[in-house]
Amino acid sequence: MTTLPAHYTELCRLRREAATLGAVSSLASWDQETYMPNAAADGRAEQSAMLAELVHERATSPRVGELISLCESDAELQGDARIAANIREMRRDYDLATKLPPELVKELAETGSKAQHVWKEARAKSDFALFRPWLEKMVTLARRKAECYGTPEGGELYDALLNEYEPDARSAEVEKVFASLRERLSALIGELSSKGTPPSEAPLQVHVSSDRQHALGLKIIAAFGFDLDAGRLDVTTHPFCSGLGPGDTRLTTRYREDHWTDALFGTMHECGHGLYEQGLPKKDGLFGQPLAQDTGLGIHESQSRMWENFVGRSRAFWEWAFPVVNGEFGGALDAFGVEDVYRAVNTARPSLIRVEADEATYNLHIMLRFELERALISGDLKVADVPGEWNRRFTEYLGIEVPDDARGCLQDVHWSFGLMGYFATYALGNLYAAQFWEKIRMDISGLDDQFRRGEFGALLDWLRTNIHSKGRQFRAAALCEQVTGKPLEADPLLRHLEGKLRPIHGV
Ligand code: ZN
Repeated sequence: MTTLPAHYTELCRLRREAATLGAVSSLASWDQETYMPNAAADGRAEQSAMLAELVHERATSPRVGELISLCESDAELQGDARIAANIREMRRDYDLATKLPPELVKELAETGSKAQHVWKEARAKSDFALFRPWLEKMVTLARRKAECYGTPEGGELYDALLNEYEPDARSAEVEKVFASLRERLSALIGELSSKGTPPSEAPLQVHVSSDRQHALGLKIIAAFGFDLDAGRLDVTTHPFCSGLGPGDTRLTTRYREDHWTDALFGTMHECGHGLYEQGLPKKDGLFGQPLAQDTGLGIHESQSRMWENFVGRSRAFWEWAFPVVNGEFGGALDAFGVEDVYRAVNTARPSLIRVEADEATYNLHIMLRFELERALISGDLKVADVPGEWNRRFTEYLGIEVPDDARGCLQDVHWSFGLMGYFATYALGNLYAAQFWEKIRMDISGLDDQFRRGEFGALLDWLRTNIHSKGRQFRAAALCEQVTGKPLEADPLLRHLEGKLRPIHGV
């Protein structure tokens, strides 16, 4: 198209303004998590609330709605696939932002904040009865939220919540993939626990100062291709990645001096998110438009898991990284070799806490949560029955007993403030990563040799071309089919885990 019509350019300008305000708001949050003095907390709360209000006003103004309608009925615009996708996504965002009545948004925030407070106490005392009435309130509110969005076509009420994080996904489809993963993965974990020998974790327990770990983290992400002129790495209690805008992607991590791999893998994970953010086409005037935004949390997570698990836990990577790490750590790993570290970082062992779970068992923790929240929203499961159902499934999938609710259904913060429909994206990320990985290995020859030399450019180029540059033009499911020729399935992840873990555990 030679000249774009005024209704489209005005719409894009309004999007950019809202996104620019949003970037300032994210910068304020980043600062709050990293360098803000404690005494600034009240002032920052006021600043953040005001920015959030401004962003919301811009994003939901009736003018935006009018312009979207005009663009939707403009045949010439609709004839351009990329522009049509851009408009489709602007409609989606507008509907999501305007469908919830302000009273419900307020009630969710207020009840969520109280419920979160009670959850903290209930977890500390391992007392589900204390939390139960609050979880009941939050489930009721989540259901009301889903009803405002409306049950998506061909789906169920829960899918309206899932849709916020994984656009247009249907839980019945997700469940189909999860079911085939669950059975074989559960069997693999059982086999490794009963017949295998877990590798020694001694190489991970050498003491390494935070400064040395930070220097290593910077070196690794630079090698992966993270542009440090257009990003940073800082320290926070809860690691995250924030793609603020063109030329500004911020990663955070945290250091444990008695367990150096926590920060290293955490940093590789956030770097994977950061590489995606840096690869989105935010320049060329596209900033703020869906075409320059991620296509959903599942694909975002596939990028973090790919660098963390498929690259960072591979033998070829460690053949390059071991001397780099040991050099940076002043010889702290002299008593060990490549094979020791490679095996130690690939230990699979059932454990109770999701955030401490390994690459394989992690998926079972997620599926359990997905099943329970889906049943809570449909009404098939009562809140009072959550602990019993949690414990029963946990033992069935992971083969260990849950000793108390603090280490069972009370361990995660998410449900306390009504965050439902989110967990599934973590396991979807692993599944997408594995399926992309098999295609990458077919497309790039000599990948392992490149890793052995510390070269990751061909992999990053592939991701830039096939995933990052697409922005939100395609849904995750469509992107997966387009890139790999197949819908999402569990086999690639199972092949990856079985092929790697069996020999490491000697079965
Ligand atoms: Zn992540």
